[in-house]
Amino acid sequence: MSKIRIDFLSTLPDCFSSVLNTGILRIAQEKNLIDFHIHNLHDYSDNKFGHIDDTPYGGGAGMLIKCQPVFDCINKLKNERDYDEIIYVTPEGKLFDQNMANELSLMKSIIILSGRYKGIDQRIRDSLITREISIGDYVLSGGELPSLVIADAIARLIPGALGDSESALTDSHMDGLLEPPQYTRPAIYNGMEVPKVLTSGNHKLITEWKEKKSREKTNKLRPDMLK
Ligand code: SAH
Repeated sequence: MSKIRIDFLSTLPDCFSSVLNTGILRIAQEKNLIDFHIHNLHDYSDNKFGHIDDTPYGGGAGMLIKCQPVFDCINKLKNERDYDEIIYVTPEGKLFDQNMANELSLMKSIIILSGRYKGIDQRIRDSLITREISIGDYVLSGGELPSLVIADAIARLIPGALGDSESALTDSHMDGLLEPPQYTRPAIYNGMEVPKVLTSGNHKLITEWKEKKSREKTNKLRPDMLK
């Protein structure tokens, strides 16, 4: 198993550290399964004030991230190693889902570019970006949270990242269904009882029950997934 490398390009690099250094993301790095590298686009600016944005040609509200710092940063990285994907997170991209996370988790090195302000110069998208991903039909103020969402979804899929290696496989969406209802001790809490079958010890019945409940729940909450 080769390890995954993710390079984040951002104008607000401070957004990343607390999330990357907590929980499964921290553990995956400690186990040497994944490496994160954060690049501050201001450090790549050829402008003496470190400016990375400018007003759009043709007018309009807001500022855009300029070509120069992004081209310089990505070209430097590409000279150092091959990248499987150079991703721009944007509300215009393909909607992120579990299939995409599974696919990305098989890659070796990925760049994820976060936009800010009104977005980025189109020429970056035309000549450097290989894939555009949206995390949902709403607009955030920057690409940092979407980048972290993608990194988290990838990291937890790497074999060994989760304590119980099976548990990623039984999550909702992995098999096109939501997961069944789950319970933990005590068997009776404030008069509310855990379904009898789960405490029966009969594994065949338990598996059947879980499959049935998975289907019922998906049908009720996400009928679109069964189509
Ligand atoms: N003017 C742009 C929105 C800019 S929002 C437009 O209309 O499409 C600023 C940045 O936040 C974007 O460049 C993008 O990197 C990020 N972003 C905002 N919403 C996002 C979403 N739903 N998914 C992924 N990235 C998003």
